[in-house]
Amino acid sequence: MSQEKQNVEFKKSSCILCSVNCGLDIQTGGESGRELLKIKGDRDNPSSQGYLCNKAARLNYYQMGQDRMDTPMRRKSDGSYEAVSWETAIKEVAAGLNKVKNSHGGDKILFIGGGGQGNHLGGLYSDGLQKALGVRYRTNALAQEKTGEFWVSGKMFGGGPHGDFEHAEVSVFLGKNPWQTHGFPKTRTILKDISRDPKRAMIVLDPCVTDTAKISDYHLQLQPGTDAWALSAMIAIVIQEELEDKTFLSNHTEGFDQIHAYFAQLDIAEYCKISQLDLDLVTRATRRLAQAKSVSIFEDLGTQQNINSTLVSYLQRILFVITGNFAKKGTANIGVSLLSVTDASKGDVSAKSTKKNINKKVSPVLGSKVIVGLLPCNEIADEILTDHPDRFRAAIIESSNPVHSYADSARMREAMQALEFSVVIDVAMTETANIADYVLPAASAYEKHECVFFQVDFPKNTFQLRHPIVDKLAGTKIEAEIHTLLIEELGALKPLHVAILRTAAKLGRRSFALAFTALLKFKPELMKVLPSLLYRSLGQTLNQGKSASAAPFWALCHQFVRKNRTYANNAGFTGSLWQAGEKMFETLLNSPSGFIFSDSGTDYSDTWKRMSRADKQIQLHLPELFPQVCNLDTSLLACPKEFPLILTAGQRRGETTNTIIRDASWDKKNKSSSLYIHPVDADKLKIESGDQVKISTQTGSGQTHAFVTEQQRPGFISLPNGLGLDYKNSQGKKVHIGIAPNELTSSDRKDFFAGTPWHKYVPAKIEKLSIA
Ligand code: SF4
Repeated sequence: MSQEKQNVEFKKSSCILCSVNCGLDIQTGGESGRELLKIKGDRDNPSSQGYLCNKAARLNYYQMGQDRMDTPMRRKSDGSYEAVSWETAIKEVAAGLNKVKNSHGGDKILFIGGGGQGNHLGGLYSDGLQKALGVRYRTNALAQEKTGEFWVSGKMFGGGPHGDFEHAEVSVFLGKNPWQTHGFPKTRTILKDISRDPKRAMIVLDPCVTDTAKISDYHLQLQPGTDAWALSAMIAIVIQEELEDKTFLSNHTEGFDQIHAYFAQLDIAEYCKISQLDLDLVTRATRRLAQAKSVSIFEDLGTQQNINSTLVSYLQRILFVITGNFAKKGTANIGVSLLSVTDASKGDVSAKSTKKNINKKVSPVLGSKVIVGLLPCNEIADEILTDHPDRFRAAIIESSNPVHSYADSARMREAMQALEFSVVIDVAMTETANIADYVLPAASAYEKHECVFFQVDFPKNTFQLRHPIVDKLAGTKIEAEIHTLLIEELGALKPLHVAILRTAAKLGRRSFALAFTALLKFKPELMKVLPSLLYRSLGQTLNQGKSASAAPFWALCHQFVRKNRTYANNAGFTGSLWQAGEKMFETLLNSPSGFIFSDSGTDYSDTWKRMSRADKQIQLHLPELFPQVCNLDTSLLACPKEFPLILTAGQRRGETTNTIIRDASWDKKNKSSSLYIHPVDADKLKIESGDQVKISTQTGSGQTHAFVTEQQRPGFISLPNGLGLDYKNSQGKKVHIGIAPNELTSSDRKDFFAGTPWHKYVPAKIEKLSIA
């Protein structure tokens, strides 16, 4: 048997390319033993149950990427990098951050990222580092898309409800193409089931003829950016035809009178005209929705990165609430989690800070809203570059690539260069790492324990602590270790306290719990660095220290059982509180395919209990947003004459995933980087598929090849997400495929409320450069 064959083995893990995180069975091996050779769906995963899509097959391009880093790097004065030891890097990074803290205050250090897609464990540990430094402001990818939605959900429900598409009679997809972007377990299977079932229906609001739109019952192919008008028309149809659920409204909501008064007089035909939708089609789709026993709605980047983003989040919720689609099977329900990403993201800003501007939850320079503790990504460059005493002076960037991902890459590069100190923690030499003062190489998501804090399902919630399936790339460290080393170097975690708890841990978990409680009572400041304290102490007893980074889950499991005893009991975690918490933690450690940690049973009305609002009443009238709903502004839709086309900068397609796969050599024919254009526009510009074109916006320009397709709507062009990255190919040569979308976007074009970018509505023009 060859050496290569001997190294081959299947192991449990999951896909990290979208929020569904399907369970995978991965055959590892290859020359180094560290490759992901063959990838199948894991039938033992309680959430995905063997499901996966085509994208997972490309994960080895992430794992074995040529620009993975294997040593810490320090930038020299000429801009080039030199390798340094870990010891040197940790000392110098801690000193650099401390210097900024001592000169300007910890609140002048910005934290960006904290765990990537499918890898949230690093974020847990980074929290300790932030607290040790007094960091108050942070941001991450959620503030590029979801913050408006979070704010609306929090205000209306006191929680984040999610649809139940598996059981919904009518499913509505708003600026979302779930066939390609998924968003809930077993997506394609469920979409096929809906489209085959004559008793169910699918409504899609999308300017493009997406794969999902093709199998829908009602495709409302609206003019880009007009979702708020289309949704207003649908709400008005419900109200003017008296299709609302009156019993539900009177029992469970407040503010319907104001909603009714406005929508009862709305000119439905005029609003359909603005959206360029057929009134009859909108009416039929709305009646189907209003008369269904259950409806679930999913909004995504098509609207969240578009004009009126937060208003659309509000309007779609009004629509499903007035039709009574909440807290029932097949509708929106509120799940539970061990620790949610938004909880983990809150930081000090939303919690208990005392400074005047922090109490108001606004950013230090521009005074923008801080939602779930996150600054709007679009404003980070200005928060650094503005000549203001409270501007950010340093940044810690973990598993995030703002130079590529945030609007106006050129300005973001300038902002990075203006910082007094910056450090990037990442697996690869990204565009952002390439400007940082220090770069600390992290192990990949398949080389360490990892997990996801998206547990939005209902009534059962699953959790998977993924185990490492290949050896770490030599020279890298896991984020838990990196953050803990920095915390120790800063003096926020003392060897004595670790030693006391280590000794107790050796005597058993009961002894550890007693010592842990006593120590925290005596030294409450250790709460700030709790994950690292657990990692260094209890962690050393978990699988001989090999599973040390899972130690914080010991506290989280006990906390979950205390707060949600019935749900934990239903999931099999019975006995005393201590026994149930211990059982859950042991199950978590020993279930590489994941496990069900919470089961709400069959009573969907438990969703009411999960609303944090004491009165359990849904708030329909939000005074912060309703005036804008009543005054939708069509001037926002106007494009300058010289940029007559509307560009989607970062379309999710079948071929593309996200930027963690930097090496695009899986795309042998380079088809993925095409600019999509409708035949009507292509004819006018005499462009054919394959022609090289130049695309320009008010911010920048780029070149790629065109693909003429009726999938687009006339006047509407698109570029894919996840491309335009610099990477090295297998010969070590630098390659750049496609256009980086944010070389074309502007940070000024953003939602008035949440500051989320209008990446899906960028005025643009194109010119043909050559004939194919
Ligand atoms: S990209 Fe596909 S395989 Fe990966 S998590 Fe998403 S749906 Fe699953």
